[in-house]
Amino acid sequence: MEPELRTWAEISLLILRSNFASIQQAVGNSVTLAPVVKADAYGHGAVQVSRTLELAGAGWLAVSCVQEGVILRESGIGARILVMGGILAFEREPAYRHGLTPVVHSLEELEELDRASLSLAVHLKVDTGMSRLGTMARPAEVVQALGGLRSVRVEGLMSHFASAEDFSSGQTEEQTALFDEVCKAVREAGLSPGMLHFCSSSGIAYGRTSARHSLVRPGLAIYGYIPAPAGAAPAPLFQVQPVLRWYARLLNVREIAAGTPVGYMARFRAPRAMRIGTVAAGYADGIPHRLSTRGSFIAGGCAAPILGAVSMDLTTIDLTAAPQLQPGDAVTILGEGMDAQQIAGIAGEIPYSVLCGIGNRVRRIYSEA
Ligand SMILES: *Cc1c(COP(=O)(O)O)cnc(C)c1O
Repeated sequence: MEPELRTWAEISLLILRSNFASIQQAVGNSVTLAPVVKADAYGHGAVQVSRTLELAGAGWLAVSCVQEGVILRESGIGARILVMGGILAFEREPAYRHGLTPVVHSLEELEELDRASLSLAVHLKVDTGMSRLGTMARPAEVVQALGGLRSVRVEGLMSHFASAEDFSSGQTEEQTALFDEVCKAVREAGLSPGMLHFCSSSGIAYGRTSARHSLVRPGLAIYGYIPAPAGAAPAPLFQVQPVLRWYARLLNVREIAAGTPVGYMARFRAPRAMRIGTVAAGYADGIPHRLSTRGSFIAGGCAAPILGAVSMDLTTIDLTAAPQLQPGDAVTILGEGMDAQQIAGIAGEIPYSVLCGIGNRVRRIYSEA
């Protein structure tokens, strides 16, 4: 039965579990999955998604910041939680108190945490080519820092691929070589590098296993999308299906005469008499404004082109192909016939930003089916 809502997203926990299982199967049981549930689980709802994945066997989850980790702890999530964006000084205490596992991004920070005598497990990130976070220290310096620790325990070394889906680029091999140098130096010094992790969805999907790993961090793939490849990429190692479908109801259906303007700046003017509908969702709900005059929803199983500008709360569509629809009927914004990858393609965005952009007004409804 459809909910009594203007716009809602249906999230299939069955598909979520099945995506998790597909990825686990592809990497094998010796590799730990740390599903990435940052940004409210890419718009899917971090608490619900984390609960479901924890019950499905996830022993690790990954978030961006302490605040996200605390929300999960306060909701009863017991899995290990990796805080990938690191911690600022004021986040140390809550990270410690809630048993979060921070990623440390410099040797100075590592030494400072150690001086604070926190008995804390952390992961150390090595910058191998993103130039955002992670230490840029030479292998010998890393070894020296690790060797001097007394209270902090470096439980893992990690990095992050910039171009794992791009087989026309040599960057993945360059990054892997830099990471390997650090791991090798650590081992040669008689220290254990602990868990090694490098791969997000694209690295896993396209078999970038030369980045020897004991843990992988899939985000997008958990939600049902594999980043589009470039160059001579192999076929993905697993299949996943979109977890989220998004619907909104028609508020109004009307016939307009040829020449009638539609929406702000009259960016559409009817070339003929036509039947149009006004849908109860706009860019405030996360419909990319750049779908104006270009995108489509799915109405009654058919493509219903967006007419004119997407407004804040409303979007007007062409109902020529679905004349049976009435006010109150639902149309599909994202679902069968139009996925986040397609929306992103039309809007000049990426599927990540489409999913993360789905707004608060869009109620998330969880289904076991
Ligand atoms: C977001 C993120 C991931 C997940 O990336 P996907 O492409 O969504 O799989 C993995 N690792 C780090 C460091 C991230 O920030």
